Amino acid sequence: MMKTIGLIGGMSWESTVTYYRIINETVGRELGGLHSAKILMYSVDFAEIEECQSNGDWAKSAEILGTAALNLQKAGADFIVICTNTMHKVVPEISERIDIPIMHIADATADALISAGVKTAALLGTKYTMRQDFCKDRLTARGIKILTPDDSDVEIVNNVIYDELCRGVISQSSRDEYIRIIDGLKQRGAEGVILGCTEIGLLINENCSPLPVFDTTLIHAEKAALYSVGIQRGCNE
Ligand code: GLU
Repeated sequence: MMKTIGLIGGMSWESTVTYYRIINETVGRELGGLHSAKILMYSVDFAEIEECQSNGDWAKSAEILGTAALNLQKAGADFIVICTNTMHKVVPEISERIDIPIMHIADATADALISAGVKTAALLGTKYTMRQDFCKDRLTARGIKILTPDDSDVEIVNNVIYDELCRGVISQSSRDEYIRIIDGLKQRGAEGVILGCTEIGLLINENCSPLPVFDTTLIHAEKAALYSVGIQRGCNE
């Protein structure tokens, strides 16, 4: 029996589109014919979430996302997929409100890095994801060393996410900056780069990156799809 995936999206919707497409493509590829994924989606207003982030009001964001998760559970979701790295910060608070599991984005990413044999990885994402520990700890617990950019480059990476990618703006000069930053992390010993924000794949891919790319959106979406059809084991949460 195919499981129903509960997506919490809209953070931003630009990357939720990719989740929806990849999950359906993966289920179609695995099951063939006209098969597609069983998905329930709760798409939030990202402006409300971003306001919580910049005010440091993580409790309010946990309330919003916890309510979304509970509604997805009530509607019949078998497990939850949160379509952003940053908001995994409040996974413990969301989990408390529901009885179904959450498929953690950092666990899926760690699986992908380990199967590729990557021991030291660069991490790009929002300033919260790069500076705080909620995703990094989960990766280092699996034996992966994480390298992040210096402070001025953290600002550049973060601003491109909120000022451009989350608004659908794709700019070559920002791509060049990201490539420069990835190259610097390569010089420091990174063997791969984690696109640890679900919009970065809109800007950077394997063809332009100086390092092998681990795109959390693609990894997370594919794992969710495979779990929903019973091909892969699922949620560690
Ligand atoms: N989608 C982004 C992420 O993966 C950033 C947007 C957000 O703050 O949720 O972290």
